[in-house]
Order: sequence, then structure tokens, then C-alpha cells
Amino acid sequence: MNRRVVKFGGSNLKSREDILRVITAIKNYHEPIVIVVSALYGVTDRLIKSVSKVKRDKDAIDIILKDLYNSHRRIALKYIKDPDARNETLSKLKQRIEKLGQYLLGIHCLEDIPNCADDMLLSYGERLSSLLLESILRYMKIESKELLPEKIGLVTDGEYGNATIDLEQSKKNIRNIFSENITYIIPGFYGISTEYRITTLGRGGSDYSASAIAYCIDASSVDIWKDVSGFLSADPCVVKHPVSIKELSYNEAAELSYFGARIFHPLTFEPLLGKRIPVRIFDINKEGKKQIPLTVISNKGTIKRSVVKSVAYLDNIGVIKLGTPGIGIKSNILNQIIYQISKLGINIKTIISSMTSMNILVSKSDLNKCCREIAALNLLTIDSIKCYDNSSLIALVGEGMDTRRGIAVRAFKAVAEKNVNIQLIASGSSRVAIYFLVSRKDRTKTIRAVHDEFFAGK
Ligand code: ASP
Ligand code: MG
Repeated sequence: MNRRVVKFGGSNLKSREDILRVITAIKNYHEPIVIVVSALYGVTDRLIKSVSKVKRDKDAIDIILKDLYNSHRRIALKYIKDPDARNETLSKLKQRIEKLGQYLLGIHCLEDIPNCADDMLLSYGERLSSLLLESILRYMKIESKELLPEKIGLVTDGEYGNATIDLEQSKKNIRNIFSENITYIIPGFYGISTEYRITTLGRGGSDYSASAIAYCIDASSVDIWKDVSGFLSADPCVVKHPVSIKELSYNEAAELSYFGARIFHPLTFEPLLGKRIPVRIFDINKEGKKQIPLTVISNKGTIKRSVVKSVAYLDNIGVIKLGTPGIGIKSNILNQIIYQISKLGINIKTIISSMTSMNILVSKSDLNKCCREIAALNLLTIDSIKCYDNSSLIALVGEGMDTRRGIAVRAFKAVAEKNVNIQLIASGSSRVAIYFLVSRKDRTKTIRAVHDEFFAGK
């Protein structure tokens, strides 16, 4: 039987008591598993903050090292009672933390943080949690072994801070590695480039590590343990009674992750497209031996009668409106702009253009930089550049969006009845999503109206 890949996120590793829930979940698997683990809750954020401090302040090194050691030590002491086993674990943790200390000293001396060092440092959250978990499981007589991504060859394209995993190369390296009948533990969030550089996968990247490893070994499932209630029909902070979604296709889940249901790293489903590996989401807070997944995500795309399965939104969206008379018939404008923006390493979320204007959607934090850069191009064909940072993007997601009629009209009628103006609409580029922009102040009203339209009475 193929292994399951089982991922525990930072939210499963908040308090000392949480670890007990993780251990119970692990014990309830009766087949061999590969665990992918995130850093303890908040550790990556703490690392990011201290890395920038250390550049100027040498004392910050000691502070962060002690802080990390204590967070991990507290958990080790709670679960490992035997003095020898304890000492062994603490000395392993110390060794790993000392290594981190050497890197931090390096950046302090350089007074600079090269990208390769930054990624290496940030990977330490996961390196420490995986070491800790291995020690605890061993102490509890669950035979286990930690394997580091650089040792097994989880290969990336080398882009620092936002790397993509080379699935084919990684598969060749990893396919036959998990041969013993034991539990393997792999730190998530990073891989190794072909130049042997540690490269991180972007925030929340452990989900993506898990699905990539599942791809490499043809796992029987990717089980993701969360402390939230799986995918919902809308954000519970916005809508009073969202419905929980039992089944989603990979495409639906990918669009929802992209459009703001902040549950998964957006690339999580990419390795699984075309595969038959279900992603099962479990709630760590549910007790009991027989765990039932909250949501199962697979290649099976079922069409719901009312099509829409969820309404998602993004607030941190920036819109650049370029007045470009004739853009529809002139070549070479679009590629100059895209080239310029991509040189800054900025991700364009989407572009929608017409004969007289072009709209570029980016993250709000990139908006000003993008506008400056486009202005600096001095293109004669652009006669106005306007930036807007007060829009929200609303997305309706569901299989059948491209083939069933009447969905858009229902949504837009519901929005119009609330007197909300729609600034821009995009439909058809995704098979399973339509999205539109409204003013930020109308966001909540809009979501409630659309959600009511498709879910009232459920
Ligand atoms: N520790 C990383 C982060 O906080 C990766 C993860 O949790 O998945 O973004
Ligand atoms: Mg996460």
C-alpha cells in the first residue's frame, strides 16, 4: 500500500498541549506515513523579524537563539521524561541552533542579508520542529527518522523566497527513499536548488512541500491537519452561517486559495493535477479514533446544482489603470510593461485590457513600485496612469461556471440590488471562477448579497 503524506501546520503546534493532539493523530494511522511539518507557531515570523535586526545589532543573535531554544525545550521537557533521552534531544537541538547562530553571525559581519542566507535562516523554523518531533516520537516508541529536503533531493528552480519545486527531478530522487516500515519526518517550506542553495517556497509553503512529496511517491493521500473547519462557502468573519464544503476539485481549491480563502499555499494543488491523490483536510481539535475529513479535494469535479460552492475575496489588491488609446491594435506595449514589472520580481495577478485601456492587478504592496516603473518607461502610447488601492476582488468559485448559464446574472443582480457598483468583471479565463472588483467599502455587503443569493435556506 502506498504511504500517506501527513502534514501538520504551525497552527497545530501552538501550545505544549497541541503536540499531544498531533501525537494522537499520528498514532491513529495504521499504515506507514511520511510527515511534513511546519515550524512551531509564530517561529517563522520571529525569525523574519530577528534576521533584519541582527544585521545591525549583534546582541539580537543571542536573544533569538535563546528564544528558539526555550520554545523547543519546553515541549521536549513536557513529553520526554527520561533524563538520558531528554539530554540527547536537548543537545541535538542545541547543535542545530548553534549552526543557525553561525549563519546569523555571518550576516551581522557582512551587514547584509544575501538572499541565499535569508532562505537558509528562515528554514530553521522547520528544521527545529522536525528534529523535536522526531525525538518525541522516538521516545514514544514510534520508530521514526527525520530526512532533510537537501539530503533527499527535493529540488527547486532556485528562486529565493518563492521557489517552485521541480517535480520530475525530485521524483527521481525521492521515489524509492521511504523504504523502511517506519515514520519519516520531513521539514516543510524549503527545498534545494540545482546550485545546492536552500530555497524557501513562500509563506505557508509546507502545504506545497507535502503535495510535492505526495506526487513523488504516488501517495495514497495528502492529509492536512488544521485547526479550522476546512473550506467554507464564505469567510465566517463576513458571513454569519457559511456552509462547510465536503468536496472540491483541485481547480476549485486552487482558485479559492488564490482568491483569498487563506487556507493553503496557492501552489498546493498544482503537483496533484492529473493525479488521483486526494487531499483530505482534518480538524485537529476533533477527538476520537475515527477521523472524518472535513473537506476532500480530488480530481473529481462535481457540479453543484447552483454551481457556486464558495465566495472568496481579496482586499489587498492594487489596480493600475493605463489609458492606452489603440492598445488593442498596437503590438509591443504589453510585453514591455510585463517585462519591466517582472524585472522587479513582482507578480502580476491578472491583466484585463481593451482597445483604450489596460488594467493590471497586483498586490497592494507592489502598487506604487509598479506605477513608478511603468511611468519610467515613458511609453508614448500611454497617456494616463492611475493607481487604485481601495478595491476588493470578489470571486465566485464552482465547477460548471464555464458551462452553466445564468450564474453571473444571478450574482450581479444580487449585487446591483444592494446599490453596489461593479468596477471590473473577468470571466472565462478560469473554468471554475468568475471574479469582479468592487470598492473596498462595499466588500462585505457584496459578499453577503452573493452568498445569500446562492446559499439562502441552506
Ligand atoms: N513556516 C512557514 C510559514 O510560516 C511555512 C508554513 O508554515 O507552511 O510560512
Ligand atoms: Mg501554514
